[in-house]
Amino acid sequence: MTDQITPVPAATGLATLSPSRASDFKRCPQLFKYRAIDRLDEPSTIYQARGTTAHLALQRLFDLPAESRTPEALFDLFRESWVEVRGTEFEGLFDSVDDERTWGVESLELLANYFSIEDPTSFDPLERELDMLVDLDGIVIRGILDRMEETPDGRLLITDYKSGKAPPERYALPAFFALKIYALLIRRRTGRAPDAVRLMYLTGPTVYEISVNDGQLDAMDKQLRALWSAIERAMERNEFPPRPGRLCDWCSFQDMCPAFVDQVVEVTAAAG
Ligand code: SF4
Repeated sequence: MTDQITPVPAATGLATLSPSRASDFKRCPQLFKYRAIDRLDEPSTIYQARGTTAHLALQRLFDLPAESRTPEALFDLFRESWVEVRGTEFEGLFDSVDDERTWGVESLELLANYFSIEDPTSFDPLERELDMLVDLDGIVIRGILDRMEETPDGRLLITDYKSGKAPPERYALPAFFALKIYALLIRRRTGRAPDAVRLMYLTGPTVYEISVNDGQLDAMDKQLRALWSAIERAMERNEFPPRPGRLCDWCSFQDMCPAFVDQVVEVTAAAG
């Protein structure tokens, strides 16, 4: 099926919505505003640097012949990828060469976990870093899918690599939200629904996988449309309420977020 691309929707001013930004809005509309509307810069962290570099290395591992996909090859790819991205996205991230070296050693230890999850010599993915721009009947979604493959028993599986720590299993379901959108995009592009979606956390390591089917993806499609309507309403009214939660500790915008700035004002007023 050929993707249709529509012009920028005038009502929202958003050209496209990515699965990550859709997750942001669900999690905290204020966070969505900072990232998708205001497009504020966020300081790079060593965790982002590790994630970006590990993604590149894992993607390139499958460029090698199957028998060459060894831990040493993956470590070399990580080093090469880091040299590539260090000067562009992560300039000045480390205070010293020692700090960078420690980070590198920890990163390779993390990558070594990958080989306890799966054997990359045993399969060839159908897709890697698949850049998708898909019109879901009026909602234009753009995103890059880490990987898709067919398992030996014929199941279509899509995978998202995560370099961070996995949430406890009872909290894992919301983490699949973005991946289910990717499953929807794959169904639209290929006419075939993936059979399962998988989150591969290298820290641990931990792998979470859930089955999906056409009925679930239809429900996801409805949920996405409701979310899009909520985004349009929020933009028309310029109302993006903050929704404080566990993830605020990792939010780059806490210093300017009304949920936290207002608290500071109240404390100051009470103290005065
Ligand atoms: S600090 Fe918390 S409430 Fe504020 S924008 Fe970030 S995630 Fe949302």
